[in-house]
Amino acid sequence: MNLLHKNVAFIGAGNMSRAIILGMIKQGYPADRITASNPSRPKLDALEQDAGINTTSDNLQAVNDADVVVLAVKPQLMQEVCKHLQQTDLQGKLFVSIAAGINANRLQQMLGGNYPVVRTMPNTPSSLGLGMTGLFADAGVNDEQREFAAFLLSQVGKTLWVSEEAKIDGVIAAAGSSPAYFFLFAEAMQAEAERMGFDHDEARLLVQQAMLGAATMVVENPATEISTLREQVTSKGGTTAQALATFENAGLRDTISQAMQAAVKRAQEMS
Ligand code: NAP
Repeated sequence: MNLLHKNVAFIGAGNMSRAIILGMIKQGYPADRITASNPSRPKLDALEQDAGINTTSDNLQAVNDADVVVLAVKPQLMQEVCKHLQQTDLQGKLFVSIAAGINANRLQQMLGGNYPVVRTMPNTPSSLGLGMTGLFADAGVNDEQREFAAFLLSQVGKTLWVSEEAKIDGVIAAAGSSPAYFFLFAEAMQAEAERMGFDHDEARLLVQQAMLGAATMVVENPATEISTLREQVTSKGGTTAQALATFENAGLRDTISQAMQAAVKRAQEMS
């Protein structure tokens, strides 16, 4: 499929839209096929300058000629934005939502019709191009539209389709919320390193480089189980073994399981 022939409208020109648009341009996507809409000008001016795309402060104008509409406003604004879009003909358009917590059915209700909707769940490292996005397509989305939605989100990282919408809650628990789990772990380690006598910057350097190295080892050894990587750095009776035994005895695995289930429960309550 020629991915480059679709007109794409971004409703909301914030961090996520900007990251996706800059990625598309870098890949050679024609700038004149992209329009971003935002109430205030500064973000639009920056996008015009950096990406050469069309911009407007009128959402309806952005959507009129679009084949694909990316809904990239904060979740609390989605109802109002979608209701306004009903003033134009929305038939034949694909809607891709990046807003957290609004399910596909609810989006269709907001849009006032059974339009094809792809719901996505990106995470914050998307702003660095290192995101992890889960995608769910409702039954009305065709193969070409699926491919296009995945292309959009692949500009800010890796993508994973889920076949049931309920699994988006699992994506939230495993990838959406999880950067903060690693931050908590790193924060606690940094604090302990400081108590051991390192100054703030030294402690941060020790922890951040270990975290980056560990993550890179996982990424660069896809055929090796993560548990094997852990075993490979754990000599019997050594320091790492002592530290890991402390985690295990304190029930860390169970705590992680409970934390992820709590995130799922909260996602269910919110959508
Ligand atoms: P953001 O930077 O705040 O961008 C939202 C944009 O929407 C702002 O530029 C805002 O403009 C604009 N806007 C406000 N009212 C509007 C309207 N009526 N019509 C059109 N645009 C309007 O937020 P973001 O970080 O890009 O996030 C966008 C969506 O992605 C959110 O739903 C968020 O939950 C979701 N998300 C983001 C991330 C992430 O890593 N950033 C991760 C997961 C999910 P003004 O600033 O001028 O008001």
